[in-house]
Amino acid sequence: MDDQFVKENLEQTKQLVARAVMRAEEHNKEVTLIAVSKTKPSDLILEAYQYGQRDFGENRVQELLKKQQELPKDIRWHLIGHLQTNKVRQVIGKTTLIHSVDSLRLIEALQAESERCGIVTDILLEVNAAREASKFGFFPEELSDIVQLLSKTRNLRVCGLMTVAPFTENSEDNRKYFRQIRQIAVDISAKNIDNISMDTLSMGMTGDFEVAIEEGATMVRVGTGIFGERDYRLEQ
Ligand SMILES: *Cc1c(COP(=O)(O)O)cnc(C)c1O
Repeated sequence: MDDQFVKENLEQTKQLVARAVMRAEEHNKEVTLIAVSKTKPSDLILEAYQYGQRDFGENRVQELLKKQQELPKDIRWHLIGHLQTNKVRQVIGKTTLIHSVDSLRLIEALQAESERCGIVTDILLEVNAAREASKFGFFPEELSDIVQLLSKTRNLRVCGLMTVAPFTENSEDNRKYFRQIRQIAVDISAKNIDNISMDTLSMGMTGDFEVAIEEGATMVRVGTGIFGERDYRLEQ
């Protein structure tokens, strides 16, 4: 197979990221590009790795663990999909960042398991800004209680917020949600709560990452734009 497309897509995506950073308010900030590799085989991931990509995102625990075994050890693995509490034990200690922390029950399970392993787990809180019934995440008004609680969980470190904006043909439609997430982060930061940082904003996917960066994203999660369309029939 001709895998040259991964290199080209990666380079193009990086350029678009860099240009969007220039348009953003704080144009000296760093944006981490996460290559979302779900459903894609390890040899394609290795292709991206060889072109310097180190941050990869998966949304299933099993798939992440399998690829982690097969691929170089210096890859930073991001868990970006909904995490069931019964999978917490398997994944704890294996991730650079868990983006999709979306319930109190999950917070409790992550804290308990991190404590048992004697580690501190870095997390983001997922926010359902558009209040879509089909999506996970806290509603914006729930966050202030949640962060108060997290200021006391010694084995979890809150690094910021994550959102999955609605699917849309026009990325401009999502600008308001990205702006809202950024404002929430600013407001929480201003409270100077122990153990809570709002430095990381994981928002933007293939269809809308440029708008997300303009509105303050520090991590973007790009799958299709790097690896091409996904074929879910091939999923293990
Ligand atoms: C699949 C997925 C992505 C990447 O989506 P693309 O549109 O292919 O870039 C980003 N974030 C999450 C949470 C995902 O599940």
